[in-house]
Amino acid sequence: MVDETHDAQRKCWVAGADGHLEFPIQNLPLGIFSTPGDAPRGGIAIGERVLDISAARAAGLFDGEARVAAELAAGPTLNQLLAAGPAARNALRRRVSQILSDPAYAPLAPRMLHGAESCQMHLPLDVHNFSDFFAGIHHATTGGMINRPDNPLMPNYKYVPVAYHSRASSVRASGTAVRRPNGQRKPPDQAAPDFGPSRALDYEMELGVWIGEGNDLGMPIPIGSAGRHIAGLCLLNDWSARDIQSWESAPLGPFLAKSLMTSVSPWIVTAEALEPFRIAQPPRPAGDPAPLPHLLDDHDQAQGGFAIEFHVSLLTPAMREASEAPHRLSVSHASMLYWTVAQMIAHHTSNGCNLLPGDLLGSGTVSGTQPGSEGCLLEMTRGGRNPITLPNGEMRTYLQDGDEVIFSARCEAPGAVPIGFGECRGVVMPALRL
Ligand code: CA
Repeated sequence: MVDETHDAQRKCWVAGADGHLEFPIQNLPLGIFSTPGDAPRGGIAIGERVLDISAARAAGLFDGEARVAAELAAGPTLNQLLAAGPAARNALRRRVSQILSDPAYAPLAPRMLHGAESCQMHLPLDVHNFSDFFAGIHHATTGGMINRPDNPLMPNYKYVPVAYHSRASSVRASGTAVRRPNGQRKPPDQAAPDFGPSRALDYEMELGVWIGEGNDLGMPIPIGSAGRHIAGLCLLNDWSARDIQSWESAPLGPFLAKSLMTSVSPWIVTAEALEPFRIAQPPRPAGDPAPLPHLLDDHDQAQGGFAIEFHVSLLTPAMREASEAPHRLSVSHASMLYWTVAQMIAHHTSNGCNLLPGDLLGSGTVSGTQPGSEGCLLEMTRGGRNPITLPNGEMRTYLQDGDEVIFSARCEAPGAVPIGFGECRGVVMPALRL
């Protein structure tokens, strides 16, 4: 529900917050931060500052449900706060919005605000499970074309929100460098595989979903209430070693090509902040089957999508040395997802599988149909066949050592103050020499 926290007229006394491209007062994303010498704890981004939730609580600013929520955000992860569900998040959000919009609280700024540049951001949750979906239909189609040009999508694609269980232990917050993996590679012209550094390290631009309240084992989440289990969203880079992937994936799917590391943006943009940016799920093309009844809900079809635009940029070592800005490689949109997040949750639990607070879902690579909307280099370079040329003349098929991949995103809707996600970035380190 849209409320006073979304009011476009609401102003904030924190310098630079009004008109901030990512974190105006209408956003208030949750994260875990630390300052030098202090333990990681819950914070809220506001402009170029971070609100220290524990410090605001110590100053006596919270009562009732908001105080309970603030206590749940005091530790090194936000799992407990997310487990408490939407009411707890919303109580905290409404009170923090009130505090940051009322200049009477401005004198408390030195006690409860930190400059974002002095804060280190951490993974916001202890991630127990990470499931990666494949809901970007144009990514699935382009990838499928490589082996099945006439019939790129598998027969289950339009019935099942396809996913695999990925690795939770290697999820890291933005800014963590990714090590180029060693693995088995078998180029088509080689009779047998060899072992060595991946020659085809790629990124995948995905929407990340943080699960709030979980479900008990054996108790599916119905499609009609699945949306309530979305605590918030982030940006997710599913680093992928394409050469390792193409050799290892038959018949059980991706394994070491993906588990090397996954990066997420550190701020949880809450379901509440995203309310003004909910949109209808685009109608399925004529001839596509309707979702089966357990995945179909009128409200979800009318409101289950998100107006989020994704941006991918690349900064090479040469560009960094020349003090050049990152080069934007692509722009895509969450409306390119064939399944809603609620459908992913309903499907995931339809067999009774239990989700836990802080579980992470990836949407699958979000790509459009036009050049410049591809969510990974595999698509952009047609499997490495068509290198891209950067403005400084450098060429890329896949990532080289020292390259930095930067994701950002923006939500816009009529009458709403636009909000962003912050960045999800990671630089490629050379492989270990074995
Ligand atoms: Ca993926």
